[in-house]
Amino acid sequence: MPAEKLQFQAETKRLLDLVVNSIYTNKEIFLRELISNASDALDKLRIEALTNTALADDSEPEIFVVPDAATKTVTISDNGIGMNRDEVIANIGTIAKSGTKDFLDKLREASNASSAQELIGQFGVGFYSAFIVAEKVELITRRAGETSAVKWTSDGAGEYELEDCDKDSHGTTIILHLKAEFTGDDDEYNFTDAYELERLVKKYSDFVRYPVKMNFEVKGTGDEPPTIEIRTVNSMKPLWTRNKSDISRDEYNEFFKQQLHEWEPPQEIFHVKAEGTVEYTALLCIPAHAAQNLYYSDYEAGLQLYSRHVFIMDKCKDFLPDWLRFMKGLVDSPDLPLNISREILQQSVEVKVIGKALEKNILKQLGKLLKDERERYETFWREFGKSLKIGVYGSMFDTKAKDALKDLLMFQTSRDGKLYTLAEYVERMPESQKQIYVAAGANSSAIERLPQMELLRERGLEVIYLTDPVDEFAIEALHEYADKHFQSITREDFELDDAESQKVKAEVDEIAKTQGDLLKDVKDALGDAVAEVRLTSRLKSGAVCLATGANSPSLTMEKTFAAMNNPLFKATQILELNPNHAVFAKLESLHAADKDSPDFKNLYKTLYSVALLTEGVMPKDPVELANTVTELLTK
Ligand code: ADP
Ligand code: MG
Repeated sequence: MPAEKLQFQAETKRLLDLVVNSIYTNKEIFLRELISNASDALDKLRIEALTNTALADDSEPEIFVVPDAATKTVTISDNGIGMNRDEVIANIGTIAKSGTKDFLDKLREASNASSAQELIGQFGVGFYSAFIVAEKVELITRRAGETSAVKWTSDGAGEYELEDCDKDSHGTTIILHLKAEFTGDDDEYNFTDAYELERLVKKYSDFVRYPVKMNFEVKGTGDEPPTIEIRTVNSMKPLWTRNKSDISRDEYNEFFKQQLHEWEPPQEIFHVKAEGTVEYTALLCIPAHAAQNLYYSDYEAGLQLYSRHVFIMDKCKDFLPDWLRFMKGLVDSPDLPLNISREILQQSVEVKVIGKALEKNILKQLGKLLKDERERYETFWREFGKSLKIGVYGSMFDTKAKDALKDLLMFQTSRDGKLYTLAEYVERMPESQKQIYVAAGANSSAIERLPQMELLRERGLEVIYLTDPVDEFAIEALHEYADKHFQSITREDFELDDAESQKVKAEVDEIAKTQGDLLKDVKDALGDAVAEVRLTSRLKSGAVCLATGANSPSLTMEKTFAAMNNPLFKATQILELNPNHAVFAKLESLHAADKDSPDFKNLYKTLYSVALLTEGVMPKDPVELANTVTELLTK
């Protein structure tokens, strides 16, 4: 095939522009990226060769890094899987990474340089990092098992060129033609210097599992000419096999950056070695941030799997339950065979044993964090609390799992803006309070404005705010905590237990006996919109509110589901009127005068609309409401 010029995909081009214009402050990372790709390619070859014996050859896997001051280049080569022409186009000309577009959009919106920098830090640009230091990149590659090779060339400015070429063996060679500032013309960097590159390999790629080799010039003794010595620069000892006490936090961070593309230091790190029925080492982390698509189906969860330090596969979902999908890391176990398939993995007893142990360990460490380092736990909670609540909901029928999670939950309450555990809430409950009060709403200020909150506030009773749609599901699944039931303050069966409230309630019940007709007439007029119209003792200065039926979802939940085009969750609405409010007296007198009068009708209709609006629900006919209100105002 003749040489052809191809365009980068639009997104790739945008990303390249960013890289070339060098917003990366850390210029050194290109080497780590390219070595990590070489290492991935060696992994892929080894795994393919397990099932395709034609690919097996006697060449030892290795990565070579060769600086050359004369040509101002650095060459990185591997004898891994390589790529054919189509693969080069697919892998190098386009960005397959999910979230790239999101990333670029966010970047464009980033208000200033430092927020842009922060975003970039969260996103690795992989192969394209070559253009941080190179003005031109050549990639020569040959797919294992194939005979033809292809050469890819680009200056990173929108186009690349592809042409057939010769290559003796499979693998990939990348030649970076360095920009002048990286060749020693400036004092800061000289990537043509073998010792400088050696330092970078040691710093960023020490635990790459394949030898990273370099040539070093050894001065001859006396008149002898210098000779070239090949040395393996990296120690190749996987970090997780080392002693915990000998590993610094920086080393862990670097490891997660390189191995798992965690661009920011993880929040928490779990390094576990076990030698029980199943022997394994696990190195896991809670990332700094939740992935944007963490709760979407395109998120690929799972741990890396190794056997005797040899990589077997990525994204194994069988170790941890789905709600721990945010965990990243790896498991290395000699009890798992090298050529295990995903299907066998699912059945594997060893995997189950390891998974259970890890889950337990994670829960235990989270509990400890909550107890000993509240602030750090809250940071974790803000980022991943949703996952734990999903976990509670998902273990609806698994009491043991729920028990393990319930003490890790946190909520905002009416007390102050802080987060509290259920235990802390219960601890503060006055003796007379028998239930745990909860209220759902879009956010805390929406809940604070609910008319039902007034009395509770006055009595000094604390309410747990459920502001995330999953909160209600989690609470529903828990059912109770410390033998106390959860009670929504907007549900019809809610009543306050104290003597004062009980007294008011008795009074209201008395009034209700005399208002049967009025309540019935309003209910009939509103029709199916409400299930019931009744008097309430739970309001103070408010005139009306909406309660939901005892087994009904809340209005917030109805809204959430409606937004997802799922109309199945319909709340049963109960319109509640405050008999001690002036507007009720007016309603009563209009009703007594003429229950068919437009004035009576306008009033109860408006009251119902007001009740809806307070709950953040738009009345069915806003124009009618507007007209009626205007009319009432002019009276
Ligand atoms: P990532 O490594 O996260 O997939 P990169 O941008 O680093 O992203 O690499 C893009 C893709 O290019 C890789 O997934 C791989 O398919 C291919 N690739 C890059 N370098 C090599 C290499 N040395 N050998 C074979 N394939 C490679
Ligand atoms: Mg990569």
